[in-house]
Amino acid sequence: MVPEIGVLALQGDVREHVAALAACGARAVPVRRATELDAVDALVIPGGESTTISRLLVTFELLEPLRARIAAGMPAYGSCAGMILLAAEVLDGRPDQQQLGGLDVVVRRNAFGRQVDSFEADLPVDGVDGGPVRAVFIRAPWVEKAGADVEVLATVPDTPDAGLAAGRIVAVRQGRVLATAFHPELTGDGRIHAAFADLVRRS
Ligand code: GLN
Repeated sequence: MVPEIGVLALQGDVREHVAALAACGARAVPVRRATELDAVDALVIPGGESTTISRLLVTFELLEPLRARIAAGMPAYGSCAGMILLAAEVLDGRPDQQQLGGLDVVVRRNAFGRQVDSFEADLPVDGVDGGPVRAVFIRAPWVEKAGADVEVLATVPDTPDAGLAAGRIVAVRQGRVLATAFHPELTGDGRIHAAFADLVRRS
């Protein structure tokens, strides 16, 4: 059976994720209410603005149901703002910003933004075959600290234009939870979404 993968559709680049999932053969549906969340096998949390998505999760009464699904082992993939939401702790967040948990990491919000608002690099990603992934970072976070159970999948290569970002962790997996600081939904390279769809099928 083809699993049904939801895309949290409160704010952010929802359509791009739906298209990327569909392109790799998954059934993708937008999720805006708790009943829709109940019906999916897995969830993608898109890029956008984590503080806004956090506020809307409360308004749409999705925060607790989503925390509960993640704690119960539902596969989840967060890109950029999604990574921030899945992290256990956020640095430079807003004090009222809520966390979903699932990833034992400390992320720094808008970490690259201290140098430049956006940044691109070719990153080898563990578990993704066929060469480096073109990674687009837009006001992206990075992982400042990862717990012992977190697998680091990618770091920023030490190139001259990487500056302070060199060596920073930008893709991680912990069990069924995957996160990237970058936006594979924007480049037409479906390999990250395919890897997530695989993880969902195996779960
Ligand atoms: N800076 C945004 C945040 O704090 C994330 C940016 C993005 O998702 N492109 O949520």
